[in-house]
Amino acid sequence: MTTSSFPIISKPAIEDMETKPNLDYDKVRGNFDWQQMYDELDWLPGGGLNKAHEAIDRHANGRNRDKIAMIWEGKNGEKETYTLRQMKEQSNKFANVLTSLGIEKGDRVFIYMERLPELYFAFFGILKVGAVAGPLFSAFGPDPVKDRMLDSEAKVLVTQPDLRRKITPIIPVLFELQHMVIVNKNNRDPQPLMSGDLSYEEEMSKATANFDTVITSQYDYSIMHYTSGTTGKPKGAVHRHQAVVQQYATGKWALDLQEDDIYFCTADPGWVTGTSYGMIAPWTNGVTQLIYEGGFRASKWYQLIQDYNVTVFYTAPTAIRMLMKAGDDIPGRYDMSSLRFMASVGEPLNPEAVVWGNDVFGMPFHDNWWQTETGAIMCANYACQDVNPGSMGRPIPGVELGIVDDEYNEVPVGEDGNLVVRPTWPSMFHTYWNNTEMYNSRFRKGWYITGDTARVDENGYYWFVGRADDVINTAGHLVGPFEVESALIEHPAVAEAGVIGKPDPIAMEIVKAFVSLKDGYEESTELRRDIMRFSRQKLAAAVAPRELDFVPTLPKTRSGKIMRRLLKARELGLPEGDTSTLEDD
Ligand code: ATP
Ligand code: MG
Repeated sequence: MTTSSFPIISKPAIEDMETKPNLDYDKVRGNFDWQQMYDELDWLPGGGLNKAHEAIDRHANGRNRDKIAMIWEGKNGEKETYTLRQMKEQSNKFANVLTSLGIEKGDRVFIYMERLPELYFAFFGILKVGAVAGPLFSAFGPDPVKDRMLDSEAKVLVTQPDLRRKITPIIPVLFELQHMVIVNKNNRDPQPLMSGDLSYEEEMSKATANFDTVITSQYDYSIMHYTSGTTGKPKGAVHRHQAVVQQYATGKWALDLQEDDIYFCTADPGWVTGTSYGMIAPWTNGVTQLIYEGGFRASKWYQLIQDYNVTVFYTAPTAIRMLMKAGDDIPGRYDMSSLRFMASVGEPLNPEAVVWGNDVFGMPFHDNWWQTETGAIMCANYACQDVNPGSMGRPIPGVELGIVDDEYNEVPVGEDGNLVVRPTWPSMFHTYWNNTEMYNSRFRKGWYITGDTARVDENGYYWFVGRADDVINTAGHLVGPFEVESALIEHPAVAEAGVIGKPDPIAMEIVKAFVSLKDGYEESTELRRDIMRFSRQKLAAAVAPRELDFVPTLPKTRSGKIMRRLLKARELGLPEGDTSTLEDD
């Protein structure tokens, strides 16, 4: 099977499209050379390259200096806007603060805070001094913060009062930590500082707004991100400044960012999407970005899209499924007419969800695939192309993907195998921090091994099958959980589904499903039978779940990925392993 049962969503020919998409795929891919994209960057004297300069200063120094870069809405309804020039000044100031604290090129500076404007100023200030920025999810408890701070040996932590108090017990063991800079946004906290802390506001008020960005080379480290930990212990993937070229290019090609866009990316910077596409891609492309401090609430998101005339929306499957769960009628109550492009990443996007987007918003969700390690989008459904619901699209120009067997030899079109990438692509990670051995283990026979399984069809569209670790072997059939989950969520009562292989003496493994129900449905034996019958009709009997449990919610990472390994560990009564990224709800 190379296509889903959902029909292709076709797009008008490019000449006819109201806004011309940023990529004519077939034309570009044939004679592509990354050099032409590198030439679009604004290099620093002596051939230097710095993400902060590309994202902020180059625009702030040009005709767009008074353009709004950031529209921020706080969780208490506060509204602030910042022009490119203000972004430049604020990040310069923070760079001066860091310099006064003795921070130098290559030092690690971590950020542990909510999506406040100051997070973004600090982030770019860190890059401007040539240090390595490490954003952490604000929802982390003390232990995940401790592990990442110790592993990276970060010297400075930028945080906010409540989070500072939360991690007080771990501070004495962070031996490399020299300073904590506390952001007390709009004086929200009456007692923001503990002994030894620095006040962000006070330090910034002493700093000047002039700073010459440290000349970093394209190979210097810029950002490190610990992976989501969906399959195991998070690993610190280290990225270099040159990643900017692919982040810029894919912002244009895969998200179709155009100069007048108002862009809304729902990802937190604690996850790679929140930096690559919540900072670098939009601002290198010079668009206005909406940042919302609060979390997920369907009606709030719709209202934000309406109130700020959002044109491009980038989110994750789990959020889309929650929007679907909230009901088809909600978007109808808001004016969504500003939207022109929607995209999704992080997990396979069920075909059902792609089609739902098309029905309810008049445009499909465009799925794209990449990982922390790849640094930028690698495979996408483009604005200029038909969308195959359930497919993650075609490789971006300049990227070669492959499907190989367990000996790393390419398999024929249409067959499942390991998804691999030909090194090197510009945004490729350079190492796992302190773990070269694991880094080296990801390369075989001239390929980078992604850890995912997929297949490619005759038209060059890639179809995600599963994570290599999650593939289920049942009575001789290899089953990707995604296929089963997608069939389950087509049932009207099912909101989300997670599928695992449960050891079985005869079949080796059986397919077991965990299902959460949409609002308005009650658990019952009847309903369980109905869902199982439904899935047997959709899938081959051998592939359909043999067991099905109802659960109120599925365990997920903070970036919204279903943690199947946790479902499995709980089912089998095994230790849960690393749960530092588990979302608590
Ligand atoms: P860890 O490597 O620690 O287990 P993780 O792989 O979940 O965590 P990320 O780098 O955030 O950490 O996620 C990348 C993975 O997410 C991909 O390898 C793939 O399994 C999944 N993924 C991302 N986008 C898609 C997509 N569009 N379709 C299917 N899967 C996707
Ligand atoms: Mg991974």
